[in-house]
Amino acid sequence: MSKEIEIRGVKDMPPMAVSLGLMTVNKTGSWRNMRPVLIAEKCTACSICWKFCPDMCINIEGDLPVFDYDYCKGCGVCAHECPTGAIVMEEEMR
Ligand code: SF4
Ligand code: SF4
Repeated sequence: MSKEIEIRGVKDMPPMAVSLGLMTVNKTGSWRNMRPVLIAEKCTACSICWKFCPDMCINIEGDLPVFDYDYCKGCGVCAHECPTGAIVMEEEMR
């Protein structure tokens, strides 16, 4: 069972930013070894991937998710959370 840490003020917070890859600062796409690829036939347009992407780099165009590869760091969260297996992670070719 996890125990929550109570934060009462700035002194209780970590001494540095927890995320070093904030998309508004870094083009995190350069970190990527794997890239998400949509299998459109399997997509039910539920937008769960959009909601879970930690870098907010999935846009919904029409009904389907579109990955912004300038910022996608290839973490695979979207593929993991997709309920229909409509996102596969493929090796990045540079
Ligand atoms: S989570 Fe999967 S099914 Fe839902 S919109 Fe994203 S790719 Fe499509
Ligand atoms: S792999 Fe998916 S969840 Fe991770 S940054 Fe890229 S689009 Fe977002």
